[in-house]
Amino acid sequence: MPSAWERFKSILLKKKMLPSDTDDCKEFTRSDTQSPIENTLRLLQYIEDGRMPLRDDVLFVKNQLLETSNIHSPPIYYDHDTFGNAFKTAPVYPDFSVKYRKSFSREKTAFIDNIVNAIPDDLVETWQFDIRSFCRATKNRPLSSLSMYLFYREGLITFFDIDPEVLYKFLLRIEHGYLDVPFHNIKHATCVLQGMHMLLKYSEISIDATIHLACYLSAIIHDFEHKGVTNTFLIETEDEIAITHNDISPLEHHHVSAAFKILRRKEFHFLKHLSKAKMERIRSIVVDLVLATDMNNHFDILSKFRSTFEFSQGNVSCSSSTSPTHSDILTSSGDDEQVHEIFNFYVRKKEIDNKLLYSLQMMMKCADLSHFWHDEKNYWDSVYQLEDEFFRQGDLEKMLNTKRITPYFDRDKEGISTKQYEFIKTFVRPLFKNICKVYPKMKYIEKQCIHLQDLPTSPAAHHGSEHNDEFEENNGLDCTKAH
Ligand SMILES: [Zn+2]
Repeated sequence: MPSAWERFKSILLKKKMLPSDTDDCKEFTRSDTQSPIENTLRLLQYIEDGRMPLRDDVLFVKNQLLETSNIHSPPIYYDHDTFGNAFKTAPVYPDFSVKYRKSFSREKTAFIDNIVNAIPDDLVETWQFDIRSFCRATKNRPLSSLSMYLFYREGLITFFDIDPEVLYKFLLRIEHGYLDVPFHNIKHATCVLQGMHMLLKYSEISIDATIHLACYLSAIIHDFEHKGVTNTFLIETEDEIAITHNDISPLEHHHVSAAFKILRRKEFHFLKHLSKAKMERIRSIVVDLVLATDMNNHFDILSKFRSTFEFSQGNVSCSSSTSPTHSDILTSSGDDEQVHEIFNFYVRKKEIDNKLLYSLQMMMKCADLSHFWHDEKNYWDSVYQLEDEFFRQGDLEKMLNTKRITPYFDRDKEGISTKQYEFIKTFVRPLFKNICKVYPKMKYIEKQCIHLQDLPTSPAAHHGSEHNDEFEENNGLDCTKAH
């Protein structure tokens, strides 16, 4: 069997990234468009062929390696031309609001407009987010573009006096760090950010600008440098990430710590002018929200959320005989408006911190599963992308002779696309149902997930005739409105 290097070398030869044995290649050529690992391997090949590279070329490769945490992707170079020209063909919407522009120079305002104006509002302000259209509108920079759009539209850039160019550099760097894996890539991160935005908006939850920023930042970085394998796999294969984080939520710990290591670098730190206390608050919320996305913590978070709201309900019953019982709130259809009022009453009292934190953790978990409220096409796209990612891990498990192939990860057997009904029933529906009890205006997500749960196990088998009658009304629903 050929070694990994031999296999990689044959790929490089095919792509003409290495001189073939017959090429009369005298010089090593630097390439800005190739990844650090590609340049390194070409340099090693050059030496292996008995040639001596120039010192400048060696330094170039060395610096390229040192400047990135992702040796598999080509570097991004930031210069004014890039910022000025990246979106020059974007359409212009002359009626765009100018309310947040006052503190910027004309150049910076134009810079933001170029990015934000390329995004039609109705692509963002909808429950049925269409990631394909969004990628087209943003020229395949969906995550950085949506982040700039939301930071600007929600007034965070002005409120925190953020330099938009530094913010954009940070966002490009984060976007660049999402690897080319089937599911946990920039498209998924973009869907989660958009989902978080919708949940915050429709929950009508009362949050200040610092929490608002922390929620967006959590969604943006929440799968940063995801390798496309599960925590269990990382632990069983004694991966560097698992060792570093002592087998405790290795992926989630890595996403946060790697992103904060980038943020603290001078050229990317768009929040460096904030007070230490404010920065600590942002960081603490981001850590709590991203760690909440580990499905190992699913039932723990759900039960904390339920018991926190149960506790407040106990107090309410003492003061009002007409209040619903504790189980009415979270397990029956109950009076949603009344639950919301109770929540608002207590949220203003002393328990604000835990209620808010558990609510935001629940929203982050829901946003991470946002494909369960998208339309059928985008939903199945996501399901098959995740299945593909799991199958690839199954292939690795076979190659490495691990103890067993993870159930549903073996491409020779049934994958997760055949088990969606069970997954929705066990995980997604209880999650959506409980949060909708407290925040009834986001009811759309629960209705749509029930609709998807009742679909046949694959889109090919679906002929649109097996909808749950209770939610038949959902078809043709205007998903931009709260229900
Ligand atoms: Zn995720």
